[in-house]
Amino acid sequence: MKKLLLLLPLLLTIKANAQDAKKIHFNAILVDTHNDALSNELITGVDLSKRQTIGNLDLVRAKEGGLDVQVFSIWCGGEYGTGRAFKFANREIDSLYALIKRNPGKMVLARNAAEIKAAVAKGQFVGMIGVEGGHMIEDRMDYVDALAKRGMRYLTLTWNNSTSWATSAYDERFHHDSLVKAGHLGLTDYGKQIVHRLNDLGVMVDVSHVGEQTFYDVLATTTKPVIASHSCVYSLDPVQRNLKDDQLKALAKNGGVVFLNFYSGFLDSTYSNKETKFLQEHRAELDSLEKVYHDADLAKIRLNVIHQKESDQIRPPLSLLIKHIDYIVKLIGVDHVGIGSDFDGAESYPQGMDDVSDYPKITEELLKLHYSDVDIDKILGGNFLRVLKANTGK
Ligand SMILES: [Zn+2]
Repeated sequence: MKKLLLLLPLLLTIKANAQDAKKIHFNAILVDTHNDALSNELITGVDLSKRQTIGNLDLVRAKEGGLDVQVFSIWCGGEYGTGRAFKFANREIDSLYALIKRNPGKMVLARNAAEIKAAVAKGQFVGMIGVEGGHMIEDRMDYVDALAKRGMRYLTLTWNNSTSWATSAYDERFHHDSLVKAGHLGLTDYGKQIVHRLNDLGVMVDVSHVGEQTFYDVLATTTKPVIASHSCVYSLDPVQRNLKDDQLKALAKNGGVVFLNFYSGFLDSTYSNKETKFLQEHRAELDSLEKVYHDADLAKIRLNVIHQKESDQIRPPLSLLIKHIDYIVKLIGVDHVGIGSDFDGAESYPQGMDDVSDYPKITEELLKLHYSDVDIDKILGGNFLRVLKANTGK
């Protein structure tokens, strides 16, 4: 009994912390800047209004996780060339509009911070549009305008493929010499015009996926704060498209925000080797899944679901995700980090981070590190609202 009495203060503290975490989490406006559910929806035909057993997001689980705002990634691969990419982007936007239409009063599209606040106050789920890959504008300025008109609120200047006006992290890393030879490294004059146009339209410039040269060219060009919608820390996991310390510092100087990607491969430097081994062991099955889905990423996601026990074992701990957030906060301050999970776009996330209903765990972990409620609020969504307002004026 005496022992129990001694334990009581500790038990009460743990309970109070759990209650605090819940209160802080569900009172905050929680924003996730990157999710690929729409791309998958077009392939699998699932209805995101209802609880799903596949994928990381639906409207039911979003509510459970306290998610208020989801920026949906509009994406197609580089193989969708001129004449197809812009059309496909519009088809994905159509599917978001249709999802909103199927949920009247429950879900709305927002274009600025004021609209977000008004919708969240009414308890509505907010969908937003981010276009991932400059190839979808097909080198046409009128297509930038058209996408902005439909609600695009960020344009990721490149995906893994470069455009004629901006080089990607992938190409700058793996095709550096040939880019230099061709005199095309970074942002061209036309690329600078696009950045200016995005600034004028109140569309945030997204530097996730762009190469280092493009990154610095963008910062020298933009008149507004930029974002990295789904990136991690290079010092903790040196993959080509994570941000180096100097890049993070430059981003902070610009007033920008990096939204943390949850993909195991961008968080954990040991993940890639483990994953390669796992994929080799299931090569034949992966090949047949690729034939079913015609999409390598989706095939990998399905393979991980089928062999869940095995794939679970190679997932990094949740603490590593928190470590990336904490690293950014310590390096450039709490005003420059947020959440851009890349849910539905990757095949593996840290332990315990299975879908959008797991976001409260992030708040719990930050509280354990003695983050204040004000700081947690900024990380969960406050920083996004600030950078959006700085771009849209509202
Ligand atoms: Zn991406």
